[in-house]
Amino acid sequence: MSICEKQQALLRKLPGVDIILAKIQDDNDFFQIPKSVLVNSIRSVIEGLRTAIVGGQEISEKNFSESLEINSIVEKLKIWVNQVMTLNLRPVINATGVVVHTNLGRSLLSTDAVDHILSVSGRYSNLEFDLSTGKRGIRYSCVEDILCEISGAEAAMVVNNNAAAVLLCLDTIAKDHEVIVSRGELVEIGGSFRIPDVMAKSGAILKEVGTTNRTHLKDYENAIATSTGLLLKVHTSNYSVVGFTASVSLKDIVELGMRYQIPVMEDLGSGTFIDFSRYGLSKEPTVQESIAAGTDVVTFSGDKLLGGPQGGIIVGKKNILDKIKKNPLTRALRIDKLTLASLESTLRLYRDEEKAIQSIPTLRMLTTSFATIEKKAFILEKELKTLNDSRLRIYLKNLSSCVGGGALPLLGLPSKCVGIKVEEMTANHIETFMRMHTPAIIGRIEDDLFIMDLRTVEEDEIPAVTGAVADMLESVTNNGPG
Ligand SMILES: *Cc1c(COP(=O)(O)O)cnc(C)c1O
Repeated sequence: MSICEKQQALLRKLPGVDIILAKIQDDNDFFQIPKSVLVNSIRSVIEGLRTAIVGGQEISEKNFSESLEINSIVEKLKIWVNQVMTLNLRPVINATGVVVHTNLGRSLLSTDAVDHILSVSGRYSNLEFDLSTGKRGIRYSCVEDILCEISGAEAAMVVNNNAAAVLLCLDTIAKDHEVIVSRGELVEIGGSFRIPDVMAKSGAILKEVGTTNRTHLKDYENAIATSTGLLLKVHTSNYSVVGFTASVSLKDIVELGMRYQIPVMEDLGSGTFIDFSRYGLSKEPTVQESIAAGTDVVTFSGDKLLGGPQGGIIVGKKNILDKIKKNPLTRALRIDKLTLASLESTLRLYRDEEKAIQSIPTLRMLTTSFATIEKKAFILEKELKTLNDSRLRIYLKNLSSCVGGGALPLLGLPSKCVGIKVEEMTANHIETFMRMHTPAIIGRIEDDLFIMDLRTVEEDEIPAVTGAVADMLESVTNNGPG
């Protein structure tokens, strides 16, 4: 038979969709699957086989025609349908040690916040309804009081994220006016947030002063003109200028603003209510300090150091916040009820700092002791040893984790890691297997080891990590390396 005739013969063997549908009619594995998914999946599987036949390469393999048997097609279909039915967005185990990991969802919510989401999302709520008057209420009122209580500000408001908060403030306060910013603070944050670009979008005009490493009060003062609408301080949250440097304190900028009757804004970015230096970490400016210094408006993220849901929080003077709330952009940037619910619960935890540290996962992981991390590393080591596989080698390492989310960039937090090596597998192979596993285990490679940092792995996740390693060892047994 010529190649071409062989291909024709194989193509004729391909069953039709109806035949496969009839075959799987009583198969339990397909009971719950919507018909549309079944039909599309069958078409995809058959199409895959057709492509293989026409391509002509695989058909020369010894058992190719077996893959056209209906039972073999049904097995393929099961895997395909399973993939289609698995949710795309799903939990992973973060073994990178990076606490505020933007790619892995930044901050984990506290149990209180998750419970609150559950309680209001499946039912009606008083989202925009004032229960005392029976009239339309304000969406943000459930968090405004608590934000003022914790920060000491006169008024507050929340939008979709901090990028939106900065945009909204600039648009409200300084559209068509100059905004004076130090050249040392023209920040770029991952995900293409750049101060100059946001400024341009808002219609405000950037007026850079000073130099990259040194800016003085007189630089701000000399730049003030009738067209000046705002003095802006940006917290350089994700980098540090070191060496011969000078920057102007918020207090001095506020004092200057008062003298010239120009409002002052601070974009804190990471935004924290807690003085981290009390927990052995380096000092980050707190929201309370910024408000106490007299800043007119302060913006920060809900899901960086605050440890809540994604959101952009704006706190400050009432006259400015009133204007911001009336800006039509607010409607386009508004947050939904799930965010509000989790934010309200997260904020309430800050009434008791000790409780906040214990129950907000971001804070707990940042302040957790080396001994606690080490204990988890020992447990993982012990569990891996019970796999009793001589191909697996386990190493305990003292390395450091970082905060992430563009916060405290210079700070390395001492941590305990478990590194693994598997005979006949490269570190890259291990990393790939663990990442593609369900649940995915995300770690890093260092010195040819796959490293798992236990700072960000919860104790109840350790069995899943061990399970993934067991699956990996089994797959090497079955398929050989690679
Ligand atoms: C992170 C950050 C932003 C952006 O905040 P998102 O909540 O990610 O939108 C803006 N400014 C600064 C200084 C930041 O650190």
